[in-house]
Amino acid sequence: MHNLERTFAIIKPDAVLADYSDDILNMIEENGFDILAVRPHHWTREQAEQFYAIHKNRPFFGELVDFMISGPLVMLVLEKENAVAAWRDLMGATNPDEAAAGTIRNLYGANIGHNATHGSDSLENAKIEIGQFFPELV
Ligand code: GDP
Repeated sequence: MHNLERTFAIIKPDAVLADYSDDILNMIEENGFDILAVRPHHWTREQAEQFYAIHKNRPFFGELVDFMISGPLVMLVLEKENAVAAWRDLMGATNPDEAAAGTIRNLYGANIGHNATHGSDSLENAKIEIGQFFPELV
């Protein structure tokens, strides 16, 4: 059975600054994702607040927004069978200290606030997130 999905991914500013982008892109390709879009960008505060609106009442919201606008990031649209779950598996747990060995957050994340990558948490949210930046790819 084929269940081709698209998910939205970000190489976050910490990983871009540390020059991990190429290593992460290589891991993505080695794991069988098709990269449908790759766009370096520096978010405005408004874009970050809109993207993370679901977290606006969480205590770390301000820190999260400040971090995501602290430098350039890379936005990606990835396609694969079961892409949403497959990308979250490849990233590992939100907290790099808890991420399985060999996952992106284990290899390249420093702490829960600086955890190298983002990935949509559901197919529904993937469509919303892709739609915010790549409406032609939803
Ligand atoms: P994700 O879906 O794995 O990215 O995790 P969440 O949706 O729970 O959180 C979104 C993002 O908020 C995470 O990737 C973290 O970068 C950040 N975050 C979550 N918890 C904390 C926290 O306690 N402190 C800080 N600074 N950031 C956090």
